[in-house]
Amino acid sequence: MPSWMMEASPLGEGNTFLFKEKPLHFLGRLMGHLTLSCAETDQEISCGAVEALRAFHRFILVRQSRLAAREDPKLRVERESASTLWPKGPADEATVTSASLALGVLAVGLAGDSDEPVRQPSGGTHGLPPIELRGPTTSPQGVAKGFSPASAQQLRPSWPPIFGSCLLPTERRDFLLTVLRSMAHPRVSDTQPIANMLEVALRGSCSELTELVEDSSRAEDYLHQSLPYLQSPLEPLREAAVRFIGLVGRQLRDGGQEKLQVIYDALSIQYFANLSESFHGFYKSIYRTQEGELRVLAATQFEPTAARMAFPCFDEPAFKARFSITIRREPKHLALSNMPVVKSVTITPCLVEDHFDTTVKMSTYLVAFIVSDFKSISKITSHGVKISVYTVPDKINQAHYALDAAVKLLDFYEDYFSIPYPLPKQDLAAIPDFQSGAMENWGLTTYRESALLYDPEKSSASSKLWVTMTIAHELAHQWFGNLVTMEWWDDLWLNEGFAMFMEFVSVSVTHPELRVEDYFLRRCFDAIEVDSLNSSHPISTPVEDPAQILEMFDNVSYKKGSCILNMLRDYLTADVLKAGLVQYLQKYSYQNTKNEDLWNIMTNICPTVGSDKNELQGDGFCRSQQSSSNAHWTKGETLDVRAMMDTWTLQKGFPLVTVTVRGKNVHLQQERYMKGVNSPSSTGYLWHIPLTYITSKSDTVQRFLMTTKADVIILPEEVEWVKFNVDMNGYYIVHYEDDGWDRLINVLKENHTMISSNDRASLINNVFQLVSINKLSISKAFDLTLYLKHERQIMPVLQGMNELIPIYRLMERRDMDGTAKQLKEYIINLFKDLIDRQSWSDEGSASERLLRHSLLLFACVHRYQPCVDKAKGYFTEWQKSNGTLSLPADVKTAVYAVGAQTSEGWDFLLSKYRLQLFNVERENIELALSLSRSKDKLQWLMDQGLRGDIVRTQDLPHIIVFVAKTPSGCHLAWTFLKENWEKVVEKFELGSNSVATIVTGVTSRYSTRSQLAQVKEFFSSLEEKSARLRCVQQAVETIEDNIQWMDRNFEKVKTWLQNNQL
Ligand SMILES: [Zn+2]
Repeated sequence: MPSWMMEASPLGEGNTFLFKEKPLHFLGRLMGHLTLSCAETDQEISCGAVEALRAFHRFILVRQSRLAAREDPKLRVERESASTLWPKGPADEATVTSASLALGVLAVGLAGDSDEPVRQPSGGTHGLPPIELRGPTTSPQGVAKGFSPASAQQLRPSWPPIFGSCLLPTERRDFLLTVLRSMAHPRVSDTQPIANMLEVALRGSCSELTELVEDSSRAEDYLHQSLPYLQSPLEPLREAAVRFIGLVGRQLRDGGQEKLQVIYDALSIQYFANLSESFHGFYKSIYRTQEGELRVLAATQFEPTAARMAFPCFDEPAFKARFSITIRREPKHLALSNMPVVKSVTITPCLVEDHFDTTVKMSTYLVAFIVSDFKSISKITSHGVKISVYTVPDKINQAHYALDAAVKLLDFYEDYFSIPYPLPKQDLAAIPDFQSGAMENWGLTTYRESALLYDPEKSSASSKLWVTMTIAHELAHQWFGNLVTMEWWDDLWLNEGFAMFMEFVSVSVTHPELRVEDYFLRRCFDAIEVDSLNSSHPISTPVEDPAQILEMFDNVSYKKGSCILNMLRDYLTADVLKAGLVQYLQKYSYQNTKNEDLWNIMTNICPTVGSDKNELQGDGFCRSQQSSSNAHWTKGETLDVRAMMDTWTLQKGFPLVTVTVRGKNVHLQQERYMKGVNSPSSTGYLWHIPLTYITSKSDTVQRFLMTTKADVIILPEEVEWVKFNVDMNGYYIVHYEDDGWDRLINVLKENHTMISSNDRASLINNVFQLVSINKLSISKAFDLTLYLKHERQIMPVLQGMNELIPIYRLMERRDMDGTAKQLKEYIINLFKDLIDRQSWSDEGSASERLLRHSLLLFACVHRYQPCVDKAKGYFTEWQKSNGTLSLPADVKTAVYAVGAQTSEGWDFLLSKYRLQLFNVERENIELALSLSRSKDKLQWLMDQGLRGDIVRTQDLPHIIVFVAKTPSGCHLAWTFLKENWEKVVEKFELGSNSVATIVTGVTSRYSTRSQLAQVKEFFSSLEEKSARLRCVQQAVETIEDNIQWMDRNFEKVKTWLQNNQL
């Protein structure tokens, strides 16, 4: 069976993109060029274009019938027949990953330029001399049925409506549209931009297209007929759209038999697109210079499904191709893309054409280009890769930290993976408007400004941490994701879980002073939060449409993904995991993978590592049998990593392990941990849990692989206490029956440093999780928190705050003032000593600085008087100096938060905000502004966020959530969400993390039945796609859970607080 390769031919000179800054809403003509070719040519000479087209056609049919089958099971029959439509074609869909795409883009500004000659693609796939292609002639007079001349005018006011001459019979047209849309948008047919482009393309084209695509069996006839036509000279393309599928064949005499040899085959579509006004596709970003001048740039964000907004393509991760990109721009701009520029040609005095080197084989979502006036600084890594950081010119002095970090990190990864970075350069660009944190485009990673720019004078420790981690994440993707890509978005975690996991692996080596290992747990706690709801999903989940795909970019793919990898590392040992990852990356370079490909490699790597390999004899599984003290660990000689990891990736949720100690016997039971009143039964769930534990008698970590619902461990002797899930390296929570919790609480009270700070943090987390499902009483959880008075380590302190403050917020919202106030006092008293000890400076280690930042902000926001007084003093001085006084970076937010409480202070902050060039500073002020008690001010802030002029729209989701957290803003935020739902979705996209942040952030502290009813009513009034969003289900489940929690625990908290004064 021939396999179909995706090999792009280098593009000719005609494939260009022209960027002109004015007018802002410019119109582009973009030219795409697609070639289909066959890898094996020894059997049938004719297996080139015709077979490729058959495969393509079949691919479309299979896709369509699969989609249809989801709606109606009866249609499955059709799917079957679709797969047998081309008996001589590839056996299954998997082999049809074989169309090649090369991109050429050409855009023309609104004014003038219509006479700009367009050069056509040249060069053939088989090294034959280039042939010029010619499009069908069109008549300027006709107007196609169903196509409004007005819309043509809208696209290009000065162009005549030329779309009529190729009017197709309706049924053919519809079929073609479906096919073309499927090509550009295989999973759905309703995304407007590309549909519009293609409709235009189609209406401008002629019936040859029908012949070819609708009836591929006639393709050979078509070739003969169209050969002379295709070889005739090309007229300059002046019309708005067009073109055609061109196939050129040649008759060959081969042993008396006539066969067809394909010498050139291409699908060429010329089409329009406007610059996108959102944050995806090829979109517009605006910024002001220090002098106040407005400047425009354009950048791309394609992941996951927006490459199709910029050019027609098989926009799926498994369709890898090499891309050749050419961009036309004005001389005052510079163009960046994945590869370096190989040649720049001056077309006219005000037009330069940059030709970028052809990329390596890669997925469409990783293609990127930017046209801007950015400045850059560069360095060369020790492996010889040129690294540059690009920013708007005024901020270039904030780029040095990122440059140095990127150099270190890229060198680290090249060594760690033992695979060289395959491109000659890596650019990191800070984009003024950016929806997410960053994007890993190969060779041109893009970032939100606050995720890349760092000012040693002004930046806080948390900002340094974030910048470093973000760069580490995007550079890890250059291997995980870019070099080896998940086959489909089902397995997005293969990209994201790994990148997030690698952040910790790399930064702990390149930047040990940041002590990133101290913060890893936070991610697992976040993951548990969403994964404990019924609306969660397995890490590996079938997804079909763009909204579902976007929803995969969540805490489950990222954070749970990285937590289960951390668990696997703890299980296999760091060395074995690394060896497996390197093998995986080497084996699948430039290819696509599924979940099981990784596990198969991990399974195979372990048994080969025997007792003769000394370096692997840590306390992990791969040590020799003799030294293994626990036969359960290896389950004999082989370890089935796949069987184990399938239980973590293919089912949602996580286990709760219940431990009952009876003398030397430790009885274990596992079940699914799940919140919620109406949750379905979860009896079918079973995990292979790599349990670890320490006891009062031994701090050596013991290991036990639990693969059944219940099991027993026999200890060598009786113990005072046992703590499972050591350092919480495992992704599960633990309940201790009988007096198990009391014994642990005692350990914390008497000498909490007997167990590690991660163990303490995990106990704090677990105890409150158990209250949520009614396994423990709230008073037990509060008893445990009492020890926090003596806690000094960042992770347990922050976890204590993260458990207690939300409870306070629930009570505060319900106007249960007496109890809420008492609770607030309790929390403040717990941390009072620690707060009082803080110096108001930037001294200390990264974690000391981070802790200071969180503590002081908490204290000031919750009006702890000594803190408020101090912050007020700082604010007054800062205001007196007209903002020139330099405040310590880590206490700034607290100072601003207090300052924003007066109307005058708020206005002063806003005036500084408007002028602020430094992005992190802007975010600090945004937080302070959103803490105002004035409803008008809060409303104004959110309105501005939507307008995007003073407040950038990229910051709106966080602002809404900040506002929602304040007592005066919670209703405002909800009303704002309801009234502006359409606009928010249009801007941020349905299914995006931004939309989810808003929905869950606004509703997360609702706890009454009427609030629940309101939320349900609003979302059910929306169209189905919105109502079905996972974040809506999460919101509903969380509110139900809050209601239940309050019903059950409120009185108990009240009583406990009365009896336990600190
Ligand atoms: Zn990522």
